[in-house]
Amino acid sequence: MTANAGATALITPQAAESAIDAQLPGMPVETRALSQCVGGTLRENVYAERDCPPFDRVCMDGVAIASAASRRGVRRYAVQATQAAGVPPLTLASPASAIEVMTGASLPQGADCVIPVEQYELADGFVSLSAPVSDAPFRNVQRRAEDGGHGALMLAAGTLLGAPEIGVVASAGLARVRVSSQPAFMVISTGDELVEPGEPIAGHQIRRSNTYAVMAALRARGFDRVSNDHLFDDEAMLADRLSLHLATHDTLILSGGVSMGRFDLVPKVLKSLGVREIFHRVAQRPGKPLWFGVGPRNQAVFGLPGNPVSTLICLVRFVIPAVFAAMGTRRAPVERIALASSLAFDLPLAYFLPVAVQADEWGQPWANPCPTNTSGDFLSLIGTDGFVELPPGPMTYPKGSVATLYRW
Ligand code: AMP
Ligand code: MG
Repeated sequence: MTANAGATALITPQAAESAIDAQLPGMPVETRALSQCVGGTLRENVYAERDCPPFDRVCMDGVAIASAASRRGVRRYAVQATQAAGVPPLTLASPASAIEVMTGASLPQGADCVIPVEQYELADGFVSLSAPVSDAPFRNVQRRAEDGGHGALMLAAGTLLGAPEIGVVASAGLARVRVSSQPAFMVISTGDELVEPGEPIAGHQIRRSNTYAVMAALRARGFDRVSNDHLFDDEAMLADRLSLHLATHDTLILSGGVSMGRFDLVPKVLKSLGVREIFHRVAQRPGKPLWFGVGPRNQAVFGLPGNPVSTLICLVRFVIPAVFAAMGTRRAPVERIALASSLAFDLPLAYFLPVAVQADEWGQPWANPCPTNTSGDFLSLIGTDGFVELPPGPMTYPKGSVATLYRW
């Protein structure tokens, strides 16, 4: 899928997305220590090492008894022993005995029920049950294999590793696990007008904010190989530094320098370095000048428009999903949401509209439109949750129009 940079050759966001996916090489697999895997994508299936739980597991602190004795009316039991978690199971001496047990212990042999501490008195080595007690068979016992059998598939390749998934991998006994390698990102701002936060700034200059927003969006998603650079609108400097970055990184995210201005030199310089243009300009607002190309070693090069709203929207709409796809990540299905009020937009372009998600009195989420003044108006993004993608067409999108939601 190729498109040229001509003013008439706009492709749709969907076509742009497919073109990126078709070009991005799959990320290789590496083995990592489990403590280094949060936010990673699992690249192997994880199977249960043992039954889960692996034995009849006591799940209350109390006494283990033979439940039939209690149901026959026995109220007083001799405490035979105490059994903590982590010790092999003892054996109940007789139906008139009880074994004190702790949560996590293996149910003593001969016992089939645990009476919780709140339901008996303990004195002189005997427990006296209060009435009534919960004495059904296997009450307060989690049965062996109740949650899953030995060898069962616990996690499939492609799973994103959050806290519950990391816990499951650990429970399968794996100290190291195969995950996707992360891309080495180079986030590059371009523009003579940009000044680093913390440095003195003149009236005609602009803070270099995109880089920080882009890095934040990447880090928030668990990517930690993220570097950054700033380049002036100077062909020689761009060529020199971009060739270095292409040699050392596999994903370049540039902002600025891809529009039609005299100093928008990024596409030209990238082409001179052997980066093949896949498309330039997408039928969307904001973010129309979006550029995408592939380097000689299959490096992905995203040229995002410089206006801060465009930069962030293009990052979240195109770059991040493509990177997850290249890592083989199975992600949650797209979120669809209804507009809380009608909205007019009369250009033949897809419209990315920032929204604040709010639940109504029945808990139903709605997208409140928060249009920005311009694509430079990043202040309007504060308090929004993301944006919806409205397809070109109706001019007015009535309240209740359903669209795909992208979260920041
Ligand atoms: P450009 O795409 O280079 O024409 O930039 C479009 C607008 O976005 C200009 O007003 C730039 O000053 C602004 N801009 C470009 N890069 C950044 C950045 N890293 N941070 C903040 N604003 C930027
Ligand atoms: Mg610029």
